[in-house]
Formats: sequence, C-alpha cells, structure tokens
Amino acid sequence: MEPIQFLSNTTPALTFGKNPLAFGAGSLGGDSARPRYHRGVSRPRTYTTDLSHFLSDNGDVVVEGRAGELALYFGLMVEFGSVMDVEAVFVVPMPCSMPGRRGRCGTRLVVGRPSSDALEWSCPSCGDGGRITSWRRSCFDLSDGVLGAKFEAADEERVDAVVPLEELWAMRRLGGGTAQLRRLLVDASNFGEGYALFEASYPELEGLRDLATAVAELTRGADRRRLDRFAARLDAFRTTLPEFLEPSEGPVNLDDAIAGGVPATAIALARDIATRRGHDDVYVEDLLEAESELEQRRKMLLN
Ligand SMILES: [Zn+2]
Repeated sequence: MEPIQFLSNTTPALTFGKNPLAFGAGSLGGDSARPRYHRGVSRPRTYTTDLSHFLSDNGDVVVEGRAGELALYFGLMVEFGSVMDVEAVFVVPMPCSMPGRRGRCGTRLVVGRPSSDALEWSCPSCGDGGRITSWRRSCFDLSDGVLGAKFEAADEERVDAVVPLEELWAMRRLGGGTAQLRRLLVDASNFGEGYALFEASYPELEGLRDLATAVAELTRGADRRRLDRFAARLDAFRTTLPEFLEPSEGPVNLDDAIAGGVPATAIALARDIATRRGHDDVYVEDLLEAESELEQRRKMLLN
C-alpha cells in the first residue's frame, strides 16, 4: 500500500500554498498568514534543522542531553515525513511538544514533504515550525526503500489496533525498537478524537507488546502507565482466535493453539474457565469464552 493511502484514511491531505497551514517563507516569515498564537505562550519560532549535525556517519543519534531530546523530537517528525509522497502534507498523530519549551501546546503537528530531501513542519496553534534536511538514510528514515523487503507485507492475517494517542506517543518517544515496528506506528492514522488506528500482524502485535512491557520497566510515572496500558491493549488485540480453532470435536491441542498464535493470556484464561466448568482439558468453547472475556477487558480499557 502507498504510504499516502495509509495516512489518508481519516486525515485529509492538505496542499502546499493553498492552505494557511502550509509552509514556506511566506507563512513562517511572519505576516497575516502566520497562525495565531495565544497570550502567555511565547512567540512562534522557526527551526532550521540539518539532522546530520545530530547523527553519526551511519545515521544514528550521537548527541545526548538537550540536543539528544531535540534530535529525537525532530527525528519523530522525520519518521512521518520519510513515508510520505513528495508534496504530501498531513496532520500527524504527534503533539506539538518542543523539548525545553515552556508550557505544553499539545496540538497535532502538520508535517509535509515539499521535496524528496526536505521536510517541513508546523503547529497550527502556536505557530512553531521548521524545515529539516539531511535526514535520509538516518535511523529515522522509515521509507520503503530503506526498510526493503523486510517490510513487504506478508500474507499474514492483519488486525486493526486502536490506541489512544497519548499511549502511541509515549511508545514512539520511548519505545525505540526495530525500524519495522516503528513503521507500524508511523503508519497509524488519526481515528476520532484522541485515538489512532494501525494495522499489524499477530507477531508484530506481540513484538510491540513485548517492547512496551520492557520499556515500561525502565520508565516511571505517567509514561510508565501509558506503556503498561499500551502493552495490555495489544495483548487483547492478539486474542482473536485463528480459524483452525473453529468448533470441532474433542479437546484443543494447546501446543497447536500456541503455535497457531493464540496468546498465552488466552490459554491461561481458557484453562481457568475449563477448570471452572469441570473439564480436564481445554475445549474450543473454553477458548472462545476466554477470547470474549479478553475482548470485554479490551473494551473497558478503551473506555
Ligand atoms: Zn504548538
């Protein structure tokens, strides 16, 4: 699928030059086209970023501290831009949150790719914006060309995962992970107020869940809770039973079920349910019951 279609599910594409959110010297230079900003919030700033200043020769971030935070902030914008077509502009599921800036704006940023090498970004609320160059082939470049064959969609079954933006954002800021896993989150489209939707296979959901769990261990406070909830949510998304478990005679072979992708949480719950029902073995009905219970939990998490 083309990146632009991924992103355009729910987010209208904007056009350079026709939209007040569009970039270029005119809109960022400060005149009537500049977005309004609120009293008490500092003046909008324009950032010109040559990402290579933050990176080693092989494209990894080498700076620490404040500069490292900035490199990551711009890098997360680059991840969006790197999967866009040239001339595309999107509202992306990333809050305006410049490191070191007083107060939290939090408005979703607009990111565009005016040419193959340059990215531009702006905040429709506070007016911050900028241009990023020298990002190609960096660790933030998640384009098909860089990910290569690994990203070619396998014939695996894929499911839609809906997650709150604040959890997605915590995961993108803190999660790291392979380029393939980060690409899944970058392809997320806006889904209603405060949510994003992305597609993933069961092994990918498992990878993201394990990553979120591991990073949560190292994280404190609100971000830890966000990552824990993100992991729990993905666990619930993984519980759709494969087709081979359509109701049949006899107990389920749990080794087959595990090999077929039924998550450990569903198996454990199904064992409890079977015991409660006085079964010595787990039957398909027990697994289905476990799945529906996990689905209920998932809905509760989303509410
Ligand atoms: Zn802003």
